[in-house]
Amino acid sequence: MLFTYTVRSKKREELIDITNLLLDAIKRSGVNEGFAIIYAPHTTAAITINENADPTVKGDIINYLSKLIPKNYNYKHLEGNSDAHIKSSIIGCSEMIIIKDGKPILGTWQGLFFAEFDGPRERKVYIKIFEG
Ligand code: ZN
Repeated sequence: MLFTYTVRSKKREELIDITNLLLDAIKRSGVNEGFAIIYAPHTTAAITINENADPTVKGDIINYLSKLIPKNYNYKHLEGNSDAHIKSSIIGCSEMIIIKDGKPILGTWQGLFFAEFDGPRERKVYIKIFEG
C-alpha cells in the first residue's frame, strides 16, 4: 500500500521528525510483518534516520553538512542551490525500515527524519508498506 503525506518546512535547512507519519502508514496498512520504504521525490531534500532524543543532534548534522558543503562556492548551477542538491545526494532520498509486530524496528534513540535543504516549502513524502 502506498501512502502520501505533505511536509511543510519552516526554514531553509532543518531536520523534521516524521516518525509519526511512518507509524500512521503502518497502522493504516494493517501490516504486522514487512517493510516500509520512505521516499522523498525531491532533489534538494532527503530522508534519514538518526537520534530524536537530543534535539542538538539535528542542529549538529545541519551545521556540519554546511561546513562540508558551503552555500557559496564556484558552483555552475544558476539556481543558486547547488549546496542543497549535493546534500540531498549525500544523505539520500529514501530509507527502508523493517516492520515487526505492527511496529517499525527503530532503536531507542532513533527517529525518522525529513531533511530539508532548500526550504521553506511544501514537500511530499511517499511511504510504501509491503507485507513479508
Ligand atoms: Zn537547483
